[in-house]
This record gives sequence, structure tokens and C-alpha cells, in this order.
Amino acid sequence: ADIYGAERPNSKGFDLTAPEKVAALTEQMQAALSRNWTAGPIVGGVELSGPTQPVTDPANRARTVGTVVLADKPAVERALSLSVAAQKQWDREGADHRAACLDRAADLMEADTPALMALLVREAGKTLPDAIAEVREAVDFCRYYAAQARTGLKPVLLPGPTGERNELHLTGRGTFACISPWNFPLAIFVGQVVAALVTGNAVIAKPAEQTPLIAAEAVRMLHKAGVPGDVLHLLPGDGATVGAALVADTRIAGVCFTGSTETARLINRSLADRDGAIVPLIAETGGQNCMIVDSTALLEQVVDDCVTSAFQSAGQRCSAMRVLFAQEEIADKLADMLAGAMDLIRLGDPMDVATDVGPVIDNDARDILIAHASRMDGEARLIKAVSVPDAVQNGTFFGPRLYEIDNLSRLKREVFGPILHIVRFKASELDKVAAEIAATGYGLTFGVHSRLEGRAQNLFKTLPVGNTYINRNMVGAVVGVQPFGGQGLSGTGPKAGGPHYLHRFVTEKTLTVNT
Ligand code: GLU
Repeated sequence: ADIYGAERPNSKGFDLTAPEKVAALTEQMQAALSRNWTAGPIVGGVELSGPTQPVTDPANRARTVGTVVLADKPAVERALSLSVAAQKQWDREGADHRAACLDRAADLMEADTPALMALLVREAGKTLPDAIAEVREAVDFCRYYAAQARTGLKPVLLPGPTGERNELHLTGRGTFACISPWNFPLAIFVGQVVAALVTGNAVIAKPAEQTPLIAAEAVRMLHKAGVPGDVLHLLPGDGATVGAALVADTRIAGVCFTGSTETARLINRSLADRDGAIVPLIAETGGQNCMIVDSTALLEQVVDDCVTSAFQSAGQRCSAMRVLFAQEEIADKLADMLAGAMDLIRLGDPMDVATDVGPVIDNDARDILIAHASRMDGEARLIKAVSVPDAVQNGTFFGPRLYEIDNLSRLKREVFGPILHIVRFKASELDKVAAEIAATGYGLTFGVHSRLEGRAQNLFKTLPVGNTYINRNMVGAVVGVQPFGGQGLSGTGPKAGGPHYLHRFVTEKTLTVNT
């Protein structure tokens, strides 16, 4: 039970070690891919048509997964006016009604897991384990927020003097703009949208430009689950036409955003500059995530956790490790072992269960990695570079790399991909290392490998970081288990999948009645 006393089991997993199960699953996924996948503005429950653009597969740029129609200004305007008109009624329906919609949506997602996985693999380049985990996370967000809404959004009677009744009510704020990233195009998209919906808000969702298809499918499921068409709208499009227009519009009563720190700043500025109400921005942004490994650590475990933390999902997680601080006595050995483990990493078609690392999302993402690697080639020591197999040259792949750098300050900003940097430190420098990590200003994830429990705990207490992991990998936060989100340059909080998240989406009203 969570802190509200709500019972909620997380969704079930899948055994990828059973070949016959994997074969059956991939067959279902392939069958799903033959559907005609489309995404377009979904406004008032109607899918708008218009000129289409292809949505391509990052693992093979020649392959088209579906087509997208981008939202134009009239679609933005219509979504805004419909949602403003519909929101009050949705709010009045009550938390139980809205929570039931989320539970039904979770069931629909679970039932169509192979199709959602197929889109995650082909539209976003996710490996099979990542795709399964992501569908589960989306399902978990629905059930978790539904359970919380049922218990946590009820009006509360407050103690007061005799002859007076005092109540605290939580209601929706209005229409939320939900702006989501391509790296979790289902889980984060759904998490934002259902949190805003269940708290009584209408939602206009803008999915990442790279991944509109799965967002459209999620919206169809939410509508089928009972969310009115006028309460939830989808506007695929670019940041300038859709995102900026929404944020600048005074009918938007809150913004939920996951993406870069720079974009979060732009949104914040736009919200500050516009007329009208002062509204909340809930932002989850980047990180410069570090792990500290001291000489008491169990290196075999460290290697496994580093490979997962830095290279799983091709390093395209906000939570991924970018910098590994290794105590000098073990630094060479650890670097050697890591290089050996990197030799075993298989880059390939993410539909293949043997693939460990799939493509990065697009050419721009790969160009940034190539540029960073070439700067590192001049400034740092290359320890290992995994090469891209010929079979996948049509995709935007980038082989994982390991560099040694002399100082954390060489890294100016987050580089979003499978590049890990090692920095060695002396035993006496632990406090200095912690101070350097804090000084990056980011505070998303942090890892420690040490068998000195007190030392690891001390780092946890010292560092202004959202999610700390001791003696394990530092990615893959689970809904309701590791509420996820950072501080400082990494985000505003509250944590997604945590007990305080929904409160940011509501407004509080008290009622005092003289009885
Ligand atoms: N929640 C994910 C994790 O813990 C990361 C989310 C993100 O990349 O934004 O790995």
C-alpha cells in the first residue's frame, strides 16, 4: 500500500529467455506492423486529415512505419476552445469516474501490448526488453494515479469550532499542455496525460516530433476507455507551431514538460511573459549523472551495472550514467573490465532479441554524438569504441564509447547517448568529487558502488540529487517504487510515479459553512 493506503500491484513482466514465447511475441508484433499506422491531430475526438509525412524507422531509415499529419494553427485553436468548454464537466464527474477511465485504459494497453511494443521498436528504436518495460510503465502510471486519485483527491473534513463545517477540496486547474519526449514516447506521454486527466484537467498533448504514432494510439485507447474527445486532444507538430503556441495561450492552466533544460527555460520564460494567471510548470529535464566507485566495490557487479546504466537504451535515458568516478587503485582494472564487457555488446536490429543496443533516435542525435566524440578524441583518452555492424548501416546507430577524462569540467552539457567518461580520483578526494558533482547544477540520478554503507549513505545525504542508487544500476525507475525526477537543472519536481505528483495538477479550495 502507498502512503494513501491504496493497493496497486505493478503490471506483469515477460520471460524473454523462453524462445517459443519470444517467437510468438515477435510474430504478433510483426502482424501489428502491417496495420496502417497514422497519427494526426485528434481534436474533439476526430482525427483530422491533411498532407502526410512519413514516420521512419531509426534502425533503417528506408523503412516507413506510418504517416503523420501535423497540426496547424486552426487545430490548435479548436483544441483550446473545446477543452476549455469541456473541462468543468470533466472535473465535476469526480475522481472515481476518472480513475475508472485510467484503469480501463491500462487494461486496453496491456491487451494490445504486442502492437505498442512493435511501435516502440520501429518508431523509437527500442529493444525488446526496453519496449516491454515501457508498456509496463505506461500501464503502471495509469493504475498508480488511478489508485491515488480515488483515495487522495477526496474532499477532506477539517476540524474547526462548533457551529462551523470546514472542508478542503482539490479540483482540476483547467487545461494542461503536456509536452513529451521521444525517449519514452509511451510511458512519459501517458504518465503526463493521465496525471493531468485524473486530477480533473482537460489535456492538450503535444508528442515529440519523432514519435507521433504511438502517442496517437495511446490517445485512441484513452478515448475508448471513456475519456471524452473534448477533454483530451492530440496535436502532433513542431515546437514552434504547437508547443510555443500552447504555452503562450492564457487558456493553458499548467504545463507538464519532459525534455531539455533549455526548452524548459523557454517555456518558463513564455509563461512568465504572458498575461493572465500564473500557472505551474512541471518540468523533468536533463542530467549529468555520475557514479562513484571506490576500492571496496565488487567490480564484476560494477561492470554489469555500468553497462546497463550507460549503454542500455543506447544511453538515451535522462537517468543514464555519463560519468564514472573510479578510485585510482581500481581505475585501470575497472576500465579494462568495462572495455571487455563492451566487446560483448551487440548492436543490431532492435526487433532481434539478441540485440543489446539499438539505434539513436535520428540523424541530429547521432551528429551531436559524433561531434562530442571527435572533441573527446582530441581532449581525452579513448579506451573503447564499439563499431557499428555493416548490417545496420541504414540506421542511425552509434557504437558505445568509453573515454577517460581528467576532469568533470570537460563536460559542459549533457550528451544524450552511449558515451561514458571515466574520471579517476584519490581516496582522499571523495569530498571534492561530491562537491564537483553538486556544482554541475544538475541533480537527477546518482550511483555509488561501495561496501562502506556509511560512506554511501553520506553521499546520498550530501548530494542534491533526485534518485540515488547504491550498489546497483542507476536506470529504470519503477512507478511507485522509485518515484522519478530531479532537482536543480534537472527539474522542478514533483516526482513522476510518486505520492506527491498529482498534487501539482490540482488547485486547493476550502469551504467554511456556518452551521
Ligand atoms: N524513468 C527513466 C529511468 O529511470 C528515465 C526517464 C527519462 O529518461 O526521462 O530510467
